[in-house]
Amino acid sequence: MHRPGCDPDDMRETDFLCDFCRRDWTQAAPFVEGHHGACICGSCLSQACAQDQTPSSAFRCSLCLEERQDLAWSHDQAHLCRRCREQSARVLARDPASGWRR
Ligand SMILES: [Zn+2]
Ligand SMILES: [Zn+2]
Repeated sequence: MHRPGCDPDDMRETDFLCDFCRRDWTQAAPFVEGHHGACICGSCLSQACAQDQTPSSAFRCSLCLEERQDLAWSHDQAHLCRRCREQSARVLARDPASGWRR
């Protein structure tokens, strides 16, 4: 997410917050951006990759903003679908600068 009250014409690293742990880019790099400024940081993604939660009911994914059934991980009322988890994991794994490993 983008920090509430940030200036869209002057975005700084501290204006990008992980939707799951709410840490900013400087505290929790690397980041993957989803839709409409939604973000997940590498450490949240690692936690999401370590498990598959049992899908209960439909939920709204915090990254793609769609109604999904394939829950991968929830944290602090933010939800991640398995599709976004796989996409984000591929993005980070492909980027050597991220230093991220599943
Ligand atoms: Zn996070
Ligand atoms: Zn999703």
